[in-house]
Amino acid sequence: MPRCSYHPNVETNVRCVECERPICPKDFVSTPVGYKCPDCARQLPSARRTVKPRQLVLATLAALGVGVGGMFLVGLLGIGYWIVTILLGMLTGEAARRASGGHRTRPIAAVAGIGMVLGAILSGAGFVAMVLGAAAASVSVLSGRW
Ligand SMILES: [Zn+2]
Ligand SMILES: [Zn+2]
Repeated sequence: MPRCSYHPNVETNVRCVECERPICPKDFVSTPVGYKCPDCARQLPSARRTVKPRQLVLATLAALGVGVGGMFLVGLLGIGYWIVTILLGMLTGEAARRASGGHRTRPIAAVAGIGMVLGAILSGAGFVAMVLGAAAASVSVLSGRW
């Protein structure tokens, strides 16, 4: 079991919804979106939602790498099923989110979507793949874990 990041000798299964670090019942703050660690609970929503330029660049690189690279791979292998495109979109979204430091915000969702759109255009996957992939990528960023 993970240990609380504030109390190293306490095991816990609770994680902060924001930064995902383990927290024990002594620390967590209940919020409408779930339990948060004291650090994240203290931050103003506006501050937390701000994506730093560096994080956006990293997210863009991740989205392009996974989205464009993945679409080419899908094209090469000839497995152009819509389910593969959706899975790749989710993967792209997750890659962009992680690269950005865990932001579930619209800019990151947009970046992930753009990665899939570019991937579909460059690999010639077609309009349907583009829409499905981009939708899956942004939904994956904005919704919970998968
Ligand atoms: Zn936190
Ligand atoms: Zn603790």
